[in-house]
Amino acid sequence: MKKVEIFKVDLKDRSYDIVIGPNLIGAAAEYISPLIKHKPVIIITDDIVAKHHLNTLVSAIEGAGITHSVITLPSGESTKSFDEFKKVISAILDTNPERSSSLIALGGGVIGDLVGFAASVILRGIDFFQIPTTLLSQVDSSVGGKTGINTHHGKNLIGTFYQPRIVLTDTNVLETLPKREFLSGYAEVVKYGLIGDKKFFEWLEINGQALINGNEDLRRYAIMTSCCAKARIVKRDEKELGNRALLNFGHTFGHALEANTGFGSKLLHGEAVAIGMIMAFDLSVLMGLCQKEDAARVRKHFLSIGLPTQVSDISNQNWESQSILNYIARDKKVQNGKINFILTRGIGDVFMSSGVDTADLLNVLNQQTEN
Ligand code: NAD
Ligand code: MG
Repeated sequence: MKKVEIFKVDLKDRSYDIVIGPNLIGAAAEYISPLIKHKPVIIITDDIVAKHHLNTLVSAIEGAGITHSVITLPSGESTKSFDEFKKVISAILDTNPERSSSLIALGGGVIGDLVGFAASVILRGIDFFQIPTTLLSQVDSSVGGKTGINTHHGKNLIGTFYQPRIVLTDTNVLETLPKREFLSGYAEVVKYGLIGDKKFFEWLEINGQALINGNEDLRRYAIMTSCCAKARIVKRDEKELGNRALLNFGHTFGHALEANTGFGSKLLHGEAVAIGMIMAFDLSVLMGLCQKEDAARVRKHFLSIGLPTQVSDISNQNWESQSILNYIARDKKVQNGKINFILTRGIGDVFMSSGVDTADLLNVLNQQTEN
């Protein structure tokens, strides 16, 4: 089995490689040197990632004679804000960048989204390289080119579509990632199986636990398969006009749960999506579209690896079905009591439906909150 996989995201003149393998931060210079047109490069990271992985990156690029500066931001979602964005832009402009300058985003989805956004607007667009350090960013946010920040109006409301020049996905960085963060990313991995690849879901049923426990080859295969699945969809629909929406399977319920818990550490994104996907299966069963055995199978897998499957798994939280439904209705625009929703005919077979009755949604929410 190959230790390093290189996978091309094919987007014409914006195409780039995703390189997946062990110790890629240590080998970063080999991959980015040919892409650097102007020195110094600017590395942007967060304080937790810096503690674990910045030295390795700095030694690697210093060893190759690449001059650099480093900007370290506070870890956490609140860094994807106007205030931090302003600080980053200022710090980058202080280094007198040119159109041929480049940024390196070393971190999870927060750093990737913020740095991608900065790269897309500084001097009307400079290059950026991504080194995603969470499982979620390796399988999701580093593929597809969405960048952005949050405002008090909501998440990701300001941003651009802007592709990196290369993504270096170092599977060793996951060793320092807290298990809860790993599992949160794993929920998005399972999502790729559930939306369009039943065989991959079956593979995860067999290999998921060993992968979570640290098996390097299995991790690489799962990341590669996830990136391919996302890239295939993005290639057909880069600007999210059609099929790309299927990547949001489980996310309508999930976002409503996150909003109810204040988008914080009480409920991580992937945990919310895990519960949301179970709810989407339950809703599909209730509507007579999907066998209940399929819903039970997904639930069983999540339970076996330690992901939550129902809202009562989230401690100290009072749930009001009606308030979750109100959030969904605001988010999704109800027309004549019907709502657009991603439903499933079974594992690996999701589709967009325009006719979901809000009464059915409330039914599923009630089942969840009563347990
Ligand atoms: P994150 O970047 O906040 O990382 C989670 C936590 O893990 C942070 O505390 C971080 O400091 C820490 N961390 C990161 N790497 C580590 C490592 N190797 N070892 C130890 N700790 C580490 O969050 P995330 O889950 O990676 O990303 C979430 C963000 O991604 C959200 O803002 C979301 O909107 C965005 N996102 C974007 C896209 C997209 O297409 N652009 C897709 C999905 C999610
Ligand atoms: Mg997601």
